[in-house]
Amino acid sequence: MKRLIILGSTGSIGTSSLDVIASNPDEFRVVGLAAGTSSDRMCDQIRAFHPSSVAMNDATAAENVRKSFDTMVRVYEGLEGMLSMIGDIDADAVINGLVGSVGMVPTITAMENGMDVYLANKETIVMAGDLVMETVKHTGQRIVPIDSEMSAIYQCLKGEHPSHVKRLILTASGGPFVDFTQEALDSVTVEEALNHPNWPMGTKNTIDSATLMNKGLEVIEASRLFGVSGDRIDVTIHRSSIAHSLVEFIDGSILCQMSVPNMRLAIQYAMTDPERMPSPYGGLDFTRPFSLTFEPPDYERFPCLRLAFEALERGGTATAALNGANERAVEAFVDGDITFKEIPEMIETAVDRHRFIERPDIGDLIETDRDAKRRIEEMIDLL
Ligand code: MG
Repeated sequence: MKRLIILGSTGSIGTSSLDVIASNPDEFRVVGLAAGTSSDRMCDQIRAFHPSSVAMNDATAAENVRKSFDTMVRVYEGLEGMLSMIGDIDADAVINGLVGSVGMVPTITAMENGMDVYLANKETIVMAGDLVMETVKHTGQRIVPIDSEMSAIYQCLKGEHPSHVKRLILTASGGPFVDFTQEALDSVTVEEALNHPNWPMGTKNTIDSATLMNKGLEVIEASRLFGVSGDRIDVTIHRSSIAHSLVEFIDGSILCQMSVPNMRLAIQYAMTDPERMPSPYGGLDFTRPFSLTFEPPDYERFPCLRLAFEALERGGTATAALNGANERAVEAFVDGDITFKEIPEMIETAVDRHRFIERPDIGDLIETDRDAKRRIEEMIDLL
């Protein structure tokens, strides 16, 4: 029986993880949950999964949960509370489904406390890939990715020698605007951007998917997780999201991992790795015709992809600045403060102007994140 803590339990990764656990009650037990403000949903999850401890980021939400469960459940509060919970309870692994830079420190804390991390929070690796991979080394804990593309590459690399890998090929659905002209892109609305063709996701990831920054962040994540430089990572537009990513080897052979687009499959794989278990999520139907298409991405119409490759190449604090700037710019777009077109423009300026540090420590990375967000806010004020 694996004991699990789920961070971001009321979000899209969190609820999908709980679905997988509910289907396999003899294999997995929830011992801790963490969420932001949704106290009602947290109370429902406590009733269904009986964790001993939970953490709520919001103080009022924490109080609501306390009132409902009295002393039956220990309720922690705030980011510090979430970290204390990870330190206090005994678990085998943490599922990190947090969104944004807030996911970085809990990932490191979990490994320092002897837990594996099943990671959906790509911002962790984008901000602090080197530090996180050092933590993997000195703690001996594992990071198993649950982002579908990272999971695909992880699976394709199983048993292969690193020197045999020629390149990684990440697939991208292309998002809702893949066929839009430049002019059309300049005037897209928040509602249009939130309408993702294949994957139901939270707001931030859906907008990132529309700008292709999501793929950019995954390029950085893949480089750090699998130790492959950016010049050996390609992106291909694959609209049906069936081929989740590919690895090409030095002999020209390519391995690809495919499945129906259901994030529960990658979550379950992370939870069972190196084993596999039957899943109720269905397979591909080869009794009907279907085709797979691959197209090169357009770096002109989707500059976020180029910005990500550039930040990866530069290294140091550049990827943390890119990530922080993107997070704030996406928020501003959703709030109606900036246009779709201004997202990459402002990110580029913020990254160019940030105080670059070649070998940042964790404090430098947190400061870079704040600084990049502040720079976006200053640009919005000047509009
Ligand atoms: Mg993905």
